[in-house]
Amino acid sequence: MNIIIMGAPGSGKGTQAAIICKTHSIPHVSTGDLLRKNIADGTELGKQAKAYMNAGQLVPDELVIALLQNRIAEEDCKNGFLLDGFPRNKAQAEVLDKTVKIDIALYLETDLNKLAARAAGRRVCPKCGYSTSADKAPDGKCAECGENLIIRDDDKLEVVQNRLKVYAQNTAPLIDYYQAKGVLKTVDGMQTIEAVNAAIEEALK
Ligand code: AMP
Repeated sequence: MNIIIMGAPGSGKGTQAAIICKTHSIPHVSTGDLLRKNIADGTELGKQAKAYMNAGQLVPDELVIALLQNRIAEEDCKNGFLLDGFPRNKAQAEVLDKTVKIDIALYLETDLNKLAARAAGRRVCPKCGYSTSADKAPDGKCAECGENLIIRDDDKLEVVQNRLKVYAQNTAPLIDYYQAKGVLKTVDGMQTIEAVNAAIEEALK
């Protein structure tokens, strides 16, 4: 099954994506993670993407689309995958449609007004990718591997506000796009992690 997970920055997409991929044994294809890996590895793509990401802007389509297409052409994606963070606009969605069939687009519906604070409170582990909130990790350590948690460069409040604006303008219209294709499943993303996951599993049946 080829799945897309959509939702505003801070909606819990990445957390849910990781759980879904574990349950269904499919690869978690996150364009944000792929871009951050390119930055960490010092690649040409990473160098080009970094300024856009740190400003909360979208990385240009020609860079992200090639990155995504190469990734889903890999062997482990043959029996399905979950896309997290792609597509981010209509042009990307149209290219995706020409590349593969999307079976389900999961949309985590959230209250945009509450998300800036939620995203800005996010702490992530630079080693294993674990993500939590500042109040749940008062010692600043990763609960999975003990590494010191960090704040992503693009989780600073002004940048988060910009990402929310970019989301509303470019990405939110994709909800109607997938609705029109008959593959949209909407889940209430303001519940606990476990309740959101249960609703997702129901939607995937
Ligand atoms: P994410 O981890 O999905 O929140 O992505 C972090 C940042 O990477 C975004 O704010 C964008 O700058 C960039 N990015 C990730 N995916 C895409 C995409 N599909 N198109 C353009 N930029 C992207």
